[in-house]
Amino acid sequence: MKRQPTIEWQVCGVCNYDCSYCIQSKVYRTGHPSPEQVEQFLTFFAGLPKRFEIKMTGGEPFAFRGFMERIIPGLVERTPHTISVLTNLSAPLAIIERFAALTQGRLGVVSASLHLEFTSPEEFVAKACALREKMDPRAHLTINSVLVPGRLQRVLSAKQLLEQAGLTMFPQIMKADGGIASYSAEDQAIIKDLVGECPTPDRANMAPSYKGRQCYAGVDYFVLLQNGDGFSCRTARRYKQGFLGNVFAGTLTPWDAASPCPYEICPCTVPANRGMIEGIAKAQRRYEEPEQESQPAAPAAVVPLSRLRAGVMPS
Ligand code: SF4
Ligand code: SF4
Repeated sequence: MKRQPTIEWQVCGVCNYDCSYCIQSKVYRTGHPSPEQVEQFLTFFAGLPKRFEIKMTGGEPFAFRGFMERIIPGLVERTPHTISVLTNLSAPLAIIERFAALTQGRLGVVSASLHLEFTSPEEFVAKACALREKMDPRAHLTINSVLVPGRLQRVLSAKQLLEQAGLTMFPQIMKADGGIASYSAEDQAIIKDLVGECPTPDRANMAPSYKGRQCYAGVDYFVLLQNGDGFSCRTARRYKQGFLGNVFAGTLTPWDAASPCPYEICPCTVPANRGMIEGIAKAQRRYEEPEQESQPAAPAAVVPLSRLRAGVMPS
């Protein structure tokens, strides 16, 4: 199975929103690297032996001044990597348009999060459409929204508005206490409308378990924190496992081989959609280079809706 080597880089902790369902507690939603540390990150990325997709997250990347002033220009000038970002799309339109201009020919995925506690669907859709118009035409724009129990009618309305504008919603099951939130029967019916019967990881984030499957997290995918620490995946980090070293100390070393997933939950669809997990078909994206060889795609795994009936906690 072809994999898209990917680094998820938490460029900063700081965020201009304060969503009640944020998986990062407020005490960690602060800070950003110094200018010297940003240069160290760029040097690290420039020295990687192959082309990665660098997916930047936060906090909110655009809330850190250095993101547009140095990180984006530095990645474009000093590295060959594909640039992706997870953003709440709250930055002024002029900044978003500058981002679109700077990343022409290099942009992979823009994951724009619709946070209904802080913006209206109308305002968000207008900005997303403006971005779509200006961004690299091969890039992939996805609109995600957290499914907060008891508040799903608003998400359903927002989905309709998005679809009228030709945008697709990527619903995300809400995570809570290391597992997933519990939903009432009424919520479950709405979720079924939102995600369909058997959503694949490029249709919705249902936070499934891939326990026991061979996974290339730590090999062709890893998570990088603003303090320079690297971990094999988000769940590993949560359990203080999968430490790969530190960029600033010059010790970050990915693993050599895949290993079976030991966890009960895979909370983020990036590893699945980048082909890291045995038996899960990689999402096809236009920004990726043409495949050298054709291989049969693995059957897409499905996540049964029964998992929503109670929060599934890691053991
Ligand atoms: S925008 Fe994202 S990082 Fe910021 S508070 Fe909301 S969920 Fe958390
Ligand atoms: S939680 Fe996901 S990314 Fe981490 S090892 Fe398991 S399958 Fe891989």
